[in-house]
Amino acid sequence: MITASGVTFAYDGTPVLDGVGLAAPAGGVLGLIGPNGSGKTTLLRILYTALRPRSGAVLLDGEPVVDLPGRELARRIAVVAQESPPELPISVAEMVLLGRSPHRSSLRSFTGDDHAVAATALRRVGMREHAERSFSLLSGGEKQRVLIARALAQEAGHLLLDEPTNHLDIRYQHEVLGLVRALGITTVVVLHDLNLAARYCDRLVLLDGGTVAATGPTAEVLRPEVLEPVYRVSVRRFDEDDCVQLVFRPRAEPAVRPR
Ligand code: ADP
Repeated sequence: MITASGVTFAYDGTPVLDGVGLAAPAGGVLGLIGPNGSGKTTLLRILYTALRPRSGAVLLDGEPVVDLPGRELARRIAVVAQESPPELPISVAEMVLLGRSPHRSSLRSFTGDDHAVAATALRRVGMREHAERSFSLLSGGEKQRVLIARALAQEAGHLLLDEPTNHLDIRYQHEVLGLVRALGITTVVVLHDLNLAARYCDRLVLLDGGTVAATGPTAEVLRPEVLEPVYRVSVRRFDEDDCVQLVFRPRAEPAVRPR
């Protein structure tokens, strides 16, 4: 379980998060949604200690994350961040094996088990046949799937993902999020696409200007009257097969008067 409370953060004096809290229940998928610049990535980075909040606390299974040594944190939290890893001259298989690093002692090389776990992770994202290719030569979507495989190979009990469906075609958007959900591990995922959030998240936190505009079970947050003032678009909702479907339309802009 991951919880955060009273999280406040500023970049160079500019406030970005103000008293934000969340609770990612054990084994469930919590989605972070909100317009551009609302603070989703900043909050996610605070959860995995890449940023330190000005105030507030983040707990991992009840322990403050800032108290956990880096290696232990890496065994317990896997991260798929937005920024690409440095362009290392390594193969796809080697990139995924890096996910095993927190599990090996510095003195020994990767074991047969490590290789087997990495191969399984690659297969799960449909990239097994690309194992020997150079990572840096992959397309954006292929890289994304490999980075997700690296996170799976880490076998951490918590998974944090920042817009993991960026660069993916529709089929892989669903496959990757379906896979993440089926893992049954505690997950926090930043998502832009609210229909993907509807299908794959158990709960949502809606950020708006650095504060929590709404939080709760997915179907309760994804209501037109909640979304419209935050995104400033018209929203229509249909409930189909137990899943919320949203259709968006730009609001009529006031006519611009000729000078
Ligand atoms: P979101 O993920 O919801 O789009 P971010 O957390 O990326 O939002 O950004 C929140 C706000 O913080 C934005 O106004 C953004 O411009 C600003 N910001 C993000 N990263 C930095 C940074 N490294 N330095 C200064 N401002 C930043």
